[in-house]
Amino acid sequence: MKKAAALLMLSMAIAFAGCGGAPQSDEAKDNTSVSEPDGGAAVSGTEASDGDLLADGVLTVGTNAEFPPFEYVGDDGEPDGFDIALIKAIGDKLGVEVEVENMEFDSLVASIGSKIDVAIAGMTVTEERQGMVDFSDSYYKAVQYVLVPAETDIASAEDLAGKTIGAQLGTTGDYMIEDFEGATAKQYNKAVDAVNDLISGRLDAVIVDKNPALVFADKFSGEIQYMDFSFEPEDYAIALPKGDAALADAVNGALAELKSDGTFDELVSQYIEN
Ligand code: GLN
Repeated sequence: MKKAAALLMLSMAIAFAGCGGAPQSDEAKDNTSVSEPDGGAAVSGTEASDGDLLADGVLTVGTNAEFPPFEYVGDDGEPDGFDIALIKAIGDKLGVEVEVENMEFDSLVASIGSKIDVAIAGMTVTEERQGMVDFSDSYYKAVQYVLVPAETDIASAEDLAGKTIGAQLGTTGDYMIEDFEGATAKQYNKAVDAVNDLISGRLDAVIVDKNPALVFADKFSGEIQYMDFSFEPEDYAIALPKGDAALADAVNGALAELKSDGTFDELVSQYIEN
């Protein structure tokens, strides 16, 4: 969605709030290809665009390009990585241009429906997030790993009790730290900043998703190592505006095609080494 259109929709949403029904412009009605959700009154203004987000030919996608190999800033200064390639392939299938906005991970979910249309950021499906956004079908299995210094007394999850542990703000790794009794949580905007504090001895451990952990362990090999304590498996999915069934169907349809025509596996082997 173009910014002007997004702003217009937002102001419409505000103007119509309190009217008791889901606002819908004539244009949106014309483009609606599926039935409206039941109980329009329960649907908020930013959701009134079933099918419409794709109508202007531009899908604005939020990411946080600090999470290799899923997203990182490429040599040309633009976001690159598995997720970026995947959402561009989805855009191709849907016949829309994909515009990527690089922003803080912690603000992605709240920006859907205003600054961005959807978000792809190695984002784990969680119940808390499902209260604010819908998710596409899951496209990748993940799990939290623990990065520790090359020399450490941490050998099991129990050993994390009482330790100073870093994580990226607002991530599932961040939310886990409170599970370890007496542990002190330190939050960072970028996982790599936590890794740097681990290397300089300011942290005892960093909790981060498996694939980025492998990338960091490789990049700083000899200084840090990764540990797999068999935490709960997680699922990555694309975060979508709540209640936009037409968009969810379109995205899931494109994802299924990319899986069946082999593109998805090609992207996995191109971007994800382990
Ligand atoms: N998968 C984790 C989460 O969703 C971390 C994602 C990230 O840092 N980009 O919270």
